[in-house]
Amino acid sequence: MTQLSIVIPVYNEEESLPELQAWISKVMDASGLSYELIYVDDGSTDGSWEVIQSLSRQGACVKAVRFFRNYGKSAALDTGFSRAAGEVVVTMDADLQDSPEEIPELYRMIREEGYDLVSGWKRKRFDPLSKTLPSRFFNRVTRMLSGIKLHDFNCGLKAYARKVVKNIHIYGEMHRYIPLIAKWNGFSKIGEKEVAHRPRKYGSTKFGLERFVHGFLDLISVSFVNRYRKNPMHFFGLLGTLSFVSGLIITAWLIFEKIRGLRLGLHVREITNQPLFFLALVALIVGVQLFLTGFLAEMMTSSNSQKSDYNIEEEINPGS
Ligand code: UDP
Ligand code: MG
Repeated sequence: MTQLSIVIPVYNEEESLPELQAWISKVMDASGLSYELIYVDDGSTDGSWEVIQSLSRQGACVKAVRFFRNYGKSAALDTGFSRAAGEVVVTMDADLQDSPEEIPELYRMIREEGYDLVSGWKRKRFDPLSKTLPSRFFNRVTRMLSGIKLHDFNCGLKAYARKVVKNIHIYGEMHRYIPLIAKWNGFSKIGEKEVAHRPRKYGSTKFGLERFVHGFLDLISVSFVNRYRKNPMHFFGLLGTLSFVSGLIITAWLIFEKIRGLRLGLHVREITNQPLFFLALVALIVGVQLFLTGFLAEMMTSSNSQKSDYNIEEEINPGS
C-alpha cells in the first residue's frame, strides 16, 4: 500500500508547480517513503493544467483531477481525499509557501504517535497584515468555540490518518474547519506541529476578506448542520411549538377579553379587529408550518440514513 498521498489544490499556480514537484520529489525520495502526488486543478484559467500534464510524465506517481470551473479549495481537497490511496494523507498549498521538508515528520506523528490529524502551525508567518490580523481573530474564536487547542486552524499543511479523510466531507469554505469537522466525526486525537513558512513567490493570494466573511458564515451553518442533521425536528419542532403555543396563549387571552367585552356590551368586530388577533393567527399558522417543515426534514433524513452515513471504525462480519 502507498504510504503517503500528497494532495495539492491548484488554482492558477503555473509558475510554482515545477519547482514544487522537484522539491517534493527530492525530499520524498530521500525519506524512502512510497508516495503519490494528487493535483486537483480547481478550474485554473492559466496554464496550470498543461503544467500538471507535463509533470505527470516525469516519473513520480502523479494523479490529477481537473474541475470544469472554480469550486474552491474545500471542493479541491475533498476530491483529492476521495482519490487518495495512501495510509497517511498530507495536504499542502501549491504556492511554495509550505515546505515539503515537514512531510516525513508529519507522517511519523500520524503513524507512530497515533494522531488522527496533525495541523501545521505557521508560527512565523510571511503574509501581509491584512491576512494575519483577521486570521488571529479567527483562530482565537474557533479555539474558544471548539475547545480544540490549535494555534493555526487554517494552515494548508496538514496530515491525516486515512480513515479521517475517507469519513469527512467538506464543501464551501469549510477547509478552515477541518479539525472541527474531524472532531465531530469522532477523530479527536488532533496534534500540532510548528512548520516553516515562506512568502509567496509567484502570483497572488486567492483569499481576501470576502472569503473570510463567507468562512465565518459557514462556521455557523456547519455547526448548525452538525447539530441538527440527524434530527431536524429538534430544531423546527421546538420553534414550531413555541410559535403555536404563543398563538394559543394570545387566542385564549382574546377569548377571555371577548367574553368580558360582550358582557360590557361591545361588538364582536371591535374585538377581532385588534392587531393581537392577527398576531395570534400568524403565530398559529407559522407554528404549524414550522412543525410540518421539521416533519418533512425528518422524513427525508430517515429515508437517507438507510444509506448509513455513520462512520464505522471497525466491523466484524464472519459471513463475508
Ligand atoms: N486554491 C484553490 N482554489 C481556490 C483558491 C485557492 O485550489 O479557489 C489553492 C491555491 O492554489 C493554493 C491554496 O489553495 O494552492 C491556498 O491558496 P492561497 O495561497 O491563495 O491562500 P493563502 O496562502 O493566501 O491563505
Ligand atoms: Mg498561500
